[in-house]
Amino acid sequence: AAKAAGGDRACAYRADMEQDMVGRVALAQELREAIRRDEFRIYFEPMVSLGETGLEIVGQEALIRWEHPQRGLLAPIAFIPFAEETGFIRDIDRWVLRAAAQELARWAEDPARRHLGVSINISSAQFLSEEFGQMVREVLDETGVDPTRIELEVTEGTLLSNLGLARTTMMDLRSLGISIALDDFGTGFSSLSYLRDLPVDVLKIDRSFLGGLSDSKANRTILEGIIGLASGLGVALVAEGVETPAQFAWLRAKGCRTFQGYLFGRPVDEAQTQLAPEVSALGGHGGDRAVSGQI
Ligand code: C2E
Ligand code: MG
Ligand code: MG
Ligand code: MG
Repeated sequence: AAKAAGGDRACAYRADMEQDMVGRVALAQELREAIRRDEFRIYFEPMVSLGETGLEIVGQEALIRWEHPQRGLLAPIAFIPFAEETGFIRDIDRWVLRAAAQELARWAEDPARRHLGVSINISSAQFLSEEFGQMVREVLDETGVDPTRIELEVTEGTLLSNLGLARTTMMDLRSLGISIALDDFGTGFSSLSYLRDLPVDVLKIDRSFLGGLSDSKANRTILEGIIGLASGLGVALVAEGVETPAQFAWLRAKGCRTFQGYLFGRPVDEAQTQLAPEVSALGGHGGDRAVSGQI
C-alpha cells in the first residue's frame, strides 16, 4: 500500500510539473506578445515630502501592471519574477523606462505636474547589463527629459554580486544627473559595508519594518538604526508602506522627511497631484508632538 501511495504521489507530482510547464510556456508566449499588443500599463504611487508648507507630493513611483486580455489587471508579482528568470525583463524594463520618461515629458508641459520626479524600478540583472547605460542614454535623447527628475530604484540582490560593476554603472548614471535609490533596504542579508563603496543617493526602508511598529521593539530599533545610518552617511531616506497617521507621526518624530504608502495614495493610472485635505493636515506643525501615544 505504501508503495502504491508513493506511486500515486509521484504521478500527481509529475502531472503538476507538466501543468506548470504548460503554464510557463503559455506565460512566455503571452509575455512575448504583451509589449507588441501594448498590454503593459504604468501606475503611479505618490511620494510625499515634508517641506516648508507641510506635506507635498514631490514625485511618483512607476509601478508596472499587465492588462492581461483574459486574466485582467496583473500585479508585478504575477510576472516580474518569471520575466527575470527567463530574460523577458530586458524588454520590460526598457519599456517601463521609456514609458515613464514619456510620461515625465508630458508632466513637464503641465503646470500642476512639472515639479514632479519619477522613480523607476530596474531589475538588478538589467541594471548590471552592459547595454543598460546605452539604453538610458537613448531614452533620454528620445524624450528630452531632465535627467535630474529621474531616480532609478534597485534592490541589493545581485547588485552586490558585482560591486565593481554596480559602482561603475552608478557613477555613469549619476554623471548624467540621474539618482540611484536602494529599494527594500534592510531586507537583504548583505553587510552594510557596501554602502561605503556605492554612490547611492537614497535608501528606501522596506515596509515590512513598519507593520510591527507598535508591538515590535526590534522593528523600532532597526528603523531608528536605518534612519541614523542614512543621516550619518548623508543619504536621503524614504519610508515605504506608511499606512496610518501614527506610523507617519512616529517616523516624522524620528527625523524621516519623505514617505510613500497607502496613507498618501495608492498606485493609480494617472499621477495624483493633490493629497486629501485630512492627509495634508497631518503635515502641519505640531505633528512632531503628537507621537508619544499609540503607534
Ligand atoms: P517596490 O518597488 O518595493 O514597490 C512597492 C510595492 O508596495 C508596490 O507593489 C506598492 O503598490 C506596494 N505598496 C505601496 N505602499 C503600500 C502600503 O502602504 N501598504 C502595502 N501593503 N503595500 C504598499 P507592486 O506595485 O505590487 O510592486 C511590487 C514590486 O514589483 C515592486 O516593489 C518592485 O520590486 C516590482 N516592480 C514594480 N514595477 C516594476 C517595474 O516596472 N520593473 C521592475 N523590474 N520591477 C517592478
Ligand atoms: Mg520600488
Ligand atoms: Mg520597495
Ligand atoms: Mg518591494
